[in-house]
Amino acid sequence: MAAPLFVSQPVLTVDLGRIVDNYVTLRARLANAACAAVVKADGYGLGAARVAAALAAAGCRQFFVAHLAEGLALASIVPRDAHVFVLHGLLPGESETYVRHKLVPVLNDLGQIDAWAAEARRFNRALPAAIHIDTGMSRLGLDEHETERLIQDESRLDGLDVLYVMSHLACAEEGEHPLNAEQLARFSRWRAAFPWARASLVNSSGIFLGPDYHFDLARPGSALYGINPVPRRPNPVRQVVRLEGKILQIREVDPPNTVGYGATRRVATRTRIATVAAGYADGWLRTLSNRGQANFGGLRVPIIGRVSMDLITLDITAVPQAAIGDGVELMGDQLSVDEVAELAGTIGYEVLTRIGPRVARVYVNDPAHA
Ligand SMILES: *Cc1c(COP(=O)(O)O)cnc(C)c1O
Repeated sequence: MAAPLFVSQPVLTVDLGRIVDNYVTLRARLANAACAAVVKADGYGLGAARVAAALAAAGCRQFFVAHLAEGLALASIVPRDAHVFVLHGLLPGESETYVRHKLVPVLNDLGQIDAWAAEARRFNRALPAAIHIDTGMSRLGLDEHETERLIQDESRLDGLDVLYVMSHLACAEEGEHPLNAEQLARFSRWRAAFPWARASLVNSSGIFLGPDYHFDLARPGSALYGINPVPRRPNPVRQVVRLEGKILQIREVDPPNTVGYGATRRVATRTRIATVAAGYADGWLRTLSNRGQANFGGLRVPIIGRVSMDLITLDITAVPQAAIGDGVELMGDQLSVDEVAELAGTIGYEVLTRIGPRVARVYVNDPAHA
C-alpha cells in the first residue's frame, strides 16, 4: 500500500535516510569486511524494495533474502553488479529461476551442491553460490559430516563460483555466551579448507563481537531497522520507524464499567478512553493487552483492556487535548521497537515483521530519490 487513503488507516513511516545511516554506522565498525543487507521478510516488514534501493544507492552490493520469491522481487531493483543471496537454498524445480534472474542460492546440503553443479554443467557456465556450513544452529547448512565429505571431495564444487562460505551465529546478542567462541573456532577450521573463497559469519549483533568474527562480509538485518544489536547497552543505531494509529472515538467511562473483550479491566475512577484504529490484525500484538503504551503529545498513555483485531483502547485521561482523528504514536522515537517488544514479551524482529498489510507504508528521506 502507498500513501494512506483514509483517515482511519494506520501509518508506518519508514525513514530510509536513517536506515542508510545505520548501514553506514555498521559498515564503519568493519575494518576489511564488506557489509551486506538482509532484507528477508519484506525488509523486516518495512518494504524490501524501497530499503534495498536506498541501500544500493549507499553502496551496498550484497542482499540476502529467505525465499526465492523474495529474491525474484529484488532482482530487477538492485544494481547489475549486486548479488541477491537466497538463504532457503536450491529446491527442486527452482534452478531455471535462479539462473534466469542471476540469483545466488545459499546451498545448504550436499544434494543442493550436486544439483547446482549439475546445472552449471548443463548450462556450461560457472554458476554463483554460497555454501552454508552449520556451526551450531542445527537448522540450515551442511552439518559436520557433510562438511567433512565436501572437504574430502572438493571436485563436487567444480563448475561453481563459490562467492562465500558462510555460517550463522546462535547467540551473537549475548556477547559473553560461550557458543560464540565455539562457533568461531569451528567456522575458522572449516573455512580454512576453502582458502580460495570469501567467508561470512556475522549478523548485526555479531559485528559487535569484534574483528575476529568479521571475515569478509557481515550480514546485518535487524540493526539496519533500528533494533539494538547490543541489548542492555546503549543502542548504536537509530530508530527508523514510526507507527501511528488514529483516534476514532473518545468517551468517559465511570466505575464499575469495564473496557474491552473479556472485561479484563474495570476502571477505578472516571477514565477518558480513546479508541484507536489499530489491532492485532495490524500486528499490534495481543500480548500488549493491559501492558502496552502509546505516546501522545510527548506523554505516555497506557493500553487499557485487551488488544482486539482492529482496535485498541487507551487511557487518555492525562491528555485532555486528544481529539478524534488525531494520530497516536504506537512506536517511534519516544517508544522504541525494542521497548514495544519488551512490553509485548517478544523481540523487536517479531514486532516489525508482524506489522500488517493494512498499515500504509510511507517513506521519507529516500536517498535513492534525492
Ligand atoms: C536473518 C539472518 C541474518 C540477519 O540477522 P540479524 O540478527 O537480523 O542481523 C543474517 N544471516 C542469516 C543466515 C539470517 O538468517
